[in-house]
Amino acid sequence: MLIKQDQDEIIGFLKDASNMPGGWAERVYFPECEDDVVAALAECRAQGVHATAAGAGTGLAGGRVPFGGAVIATSRMNALLRIDADRMRGVVQPGVILGEFQQETERLNLLYPPDPTERTCFVGGTVATNSSGARTFKYGPTRAFIERMRVILADGDRMEIPRGRFVADGYDLRVQTEAGRVIELEVPRYTMPAIKHAAGYYAHPGMDAIDLFIGSEGTLGIVTEIETRLIPLPERLFSGIVFFADEPSTLAFVDEARARSTASRTGASPRVGAAAGDIEARALEYIDWNALNLIRDRFPSIPDAAHGGAIWFEQETTGESEERLLELWYELIVRHGALADDSWFGIGLEDQKRMRAFRHAVPESVYEQISEHGQTKIGTDMAVPVERFAELLAFYREQFAEHGLRNVIYGHIGNCHLHANIFTGTPAEHELAVAVYRRLVERALAMGGTISAEHGVGKLKKQYLLAMYGEEGIAGMRRVKKALDPEGILGSGTMFDVGQ
Ligand SMILES: Cc1cc2nc3c(=O)[nH]c(=O)nc-3n(C[C@H](O)[C@H](O)[C@H](O)COP(=O)(O)OP(=O)(O)OC[C@H]3O[C@@H](n4cnc5c(N)ncnc54)[C@H](O)[C@@H]3O)c2cc1C
Repeated sequence: MLIKQDQDEIIGFLKDASNMPGGWAERVYFPECEDDVVAALAECRAQGVHATAAGAGTGLAGGRVPFGGAVIATSRMNALLRIDADRMRGVVQPGVILGEFQQETERLNLLYPPDPTERTCFVGGTVATNSSGARTFKYGPTRAFIERMRVILADGDRMEIPRGRFVADGYDLRVQTEAGRVIELEVPRYTMPAIKHAAGYYAHPGMDAIDLFIGSEGTLGIVTEIETRLIPLPERLFSGIVFFADEPSTLAFVDEARARSTASRTGASPRVGAAAGDIEARALEYIDWNALNLIRDRFPSIPDAAHGGAIWFEQETTGESEERLLELWYELIVRHGALADDSWFGIGLEDQKRMRAFRHAVPESVYEQISEHGQTKIGTDMAVPVERFAELLAFYREQFAEHGLRNVIYGHIGNCHLHANIFTGTPAEHELAVAVYRRLVERALAMGGTISAEHGVGKLKKQYLLAMYGEEGIAGMRRVKKALDPEGILGSGTMFDVGQ
């Protein structure tokens, strides 16, 4: 197994896309198989050092940033093991690049829906963070597509965890390693908000052990193999980027598109059963006026009047339903006063790619800006129940205006989940932005929201996880961690401090 110790060669493993400063490590292991992972962990234990799992480093919460010890990089465990088209399953090692996996499934007319905007991430990283993306509006997060995992625990024991094998009896969860060791866990007692949510360990009475490992951000084990569910590739796709002159019109359009899409999915739509059914967006994404201006250089045809921002939507169709659904979308767009003539629509693959690239340009430009200025990312990842969403957005705007903070707001408006990113220049401005951020978190929590709907807690949002679940909740997570990693080897400092 390759091991790198030269600091010039490992510098790339000391950070992630959050730009969190201060990461350092003694060495990086590059395992090529499970035995290598076991050997790397054995060395870490023997030397009493921590081990941080690394995917592609696109994480936005500092999860893979090591503070000492060793890094276990999964980039050489990158085999796409198989795609079983009949069973609609894919099996990959953790270092497979998500975009490449999806390309392969699509060649076989199969879709793997999880789509964090940044597709250079590794499948292992997306499982460790339970990442989401635009299509989560229809299909749910990564968790919804994971059927089986292999995991190496800190002591080198291996676990095979198919969905359904280890299921909690109430709050009592028993898992078994391949060596036959039984580990008893108590499921934490906090209640997760019933909205899009990715903060802290998944916890629910009667839960499946696989859900505990999904989203555990490298703190409970190293994921070495993943089996995913796949679905048939939709026959056709209709996408649009619709611009608006004012925000109330944008929000009214979204409210109706969201409500009708949700009703179509649950079968509650009065139009379901009609010839083509009602609209059902699979993605409903927002880009505000400031964010449009951030990418205007790259997309000069953004209309000057688009002060209400833009909504990017995707609608799956069939040859039979396409025309009717296009008409329904157009009627909705016109009725809400969108800048319809200046908006962009497309039904081909190339159009779809162009619109995805447009949406992706926003977080990419944010990342470039903060990197250029050496700024640690200050970006919200909160989601709230639908009835509180407009209120939270108004609070963001009010706070940014009151404190004169430069910002862009964009994201997964279908899931009531926006990223408000604050740009800072001076240390004083940074401090102010952090204080305002804290106020936004408090408001979202008071509304029954979550501190993180998709990026996870990492090392940057630990204090907010504490604010969300309290000392008792964190203690519940520590007990789980203690049972699976008694020496606190893995993912040290991620989610919570192991400590006491
Ligand atoms: C421009 C941009 C846009 C983005 N948009 C979205 C978005 O829309 N939605 C979204 O959810 N995310 C988004 N992200 C975040 C990011 O892509 C995800 O968090 C991604 O899933 C992390 O994968 P990675 O391979 O880069 O993991 P890394 O960043 O390397 O690691 C992330 C965490 O997972 C752990 N980990 C990694 N591999 C393993 C493993 N094999 N076993 C155990 N633990 C492991 C690490 O220790 C760390 O805690 C975006 C990022 C960027 C840069």
